[in-house]
Amino acid sequence: MSYESQMLEQFEMPTQKAVEQALLRALLKHGGVIKEFGSGQEIVDEIASEFGLNERQRSAFLETIYRKENRIKKALLWHRLLFRAADALARNNLVTRPTQTLQLTKKHEWLLTEKGFDNALKLCKIPSAIKEFLPVKSFEVQKIVKKLTESRRTEDYDPFDKNKKIVITTRESALRTRGFRQAIIEAYSHRCAVCGLKINSPDSLSWEVEAAHIVSHRYKGRDDIFNGIALCRFHHWAFDVGWFTIMDNFTIQASAQIRHVPAGFGKIEEYDFLLALTNKNHEMRFPDRSEIRPHQNAIRWHRQNIFHQ
Ligand SMILES: [Zn+2]
Repeated sequence: MSYESQMLEQFEMPTQKAVEQALLRALLKHGGVIKEFGSGQEIVDEIASEFGLNERQRSAFLETIYRKENRIKKALLWHRLLFRAADALARNNLVTRPTQTLQLTKKHEWLLTEKGFDNALKLCKIPSAIKEFLPVKSFEVQKIVKKLTESRRTEDYDPFDKNKKIVITTRESALRTRGFRQAIIEAYSHRCAVCGLKINSPDSLSWEVEAAHIVSHRYKGRDDIFNGIALCRFHHWAFDVGWFTIMDNFTIQASAQIRHVPAGFGKIEEYDFLLALTNKNHEMRFPDRSEIRPHQNAIRWHRQNIFHQ
């Protein structure tokens, strides 16, 4: 029996398999990513508490003798066990290693893969049907997000995807939908571009804001950063039915029809939802990086085809 195995037995540490499962559950809870295991890191203590580890177990050291340098290197047994478990998950393609994630997201983190995401959902007994709405990152979706946020902006951008299938059937189109959603709501810092509303569910698992298509999905609008905008549910609806549109200088233009709305319509207590759209000083919240703002060709189409003058 190796020295490490002896220590694990002596300190009655949890099995590696159990730690692997705890890591998958923790990844799901923490949005799909976990930093490398180090002291003072929240997740390290969180999982230790889940197993009810005592102080002795948490602070046990493994001592490795470096013969060449004639010195002893110490590593926490618990951190070592977490690393072994994460490493096994990476070998089974359930997570990507920090070195691999770094190339994609510039962050040194363990990141769920789609396979790991599915396994974690099963472990937590969460139906896979709501996968699309969970703010959990995966390697495959992050690849799409990276592609979307780094794609080149061209003058003659075509917001239509002629080959688009309206009904999502393939795994590829489901991934693309999640990539679009994530790229948009991250670019807008989880806020509605019109009113700035930013709120998540009480369990922190989902955001209220939605990724709206400018040329809508129904008209085969592209799932990319130039054809998207983050809107709360109210403003998403109002945009889709043409109560307001966006001008080339990124200001808001409200429909003149607002004048004909019966008294009492569109009000939430004192807040007049429709009248607020007509405020000329209203500033919309677009991403700072102008290259990832909506494309003129998409907003022009909305102005001409959806907006009610
Ligand atoms: Zn809003």
